Amino acid sequence: MFPLDECLSPHVAMAQRDHVRLDWREPQRALERVQSRGWTCACRATVYELCEGGGQAFIRRTLQLETGHQIHETHRWSITEARATWTGLLSGRAR
Ligand SMILES: [Zn+2]
Repeated sequence: MFPLDECLSPHVAMAQRDHVRLDWREPQRALERVQSRGWTCACRATVYELCEGGGQAFIRRTLQLETGHQIHETHRWSITEARATWTGLLSGRAR
């Protein structure tokens, strides 16, 4: 799929052969208010979101299916670690 002219958010790069495999889990009930610090373009079936709250952060993955949205999340990291993983995800070094 080609990026559309009106796409404002980033698209994830194709995963590299030796990419880090993230552990995707069922979403947890957030104890703290969570804010989105970054997100990928919704023109793709899979949308990733960097969520921060309570001094921790994680990545949320939403699969946009015709039957509804399927949501998974990584475990919680420090904000610094989560941002590094987010950069890796966008560049194809993590998925
Ligand atoms: Zn797009």
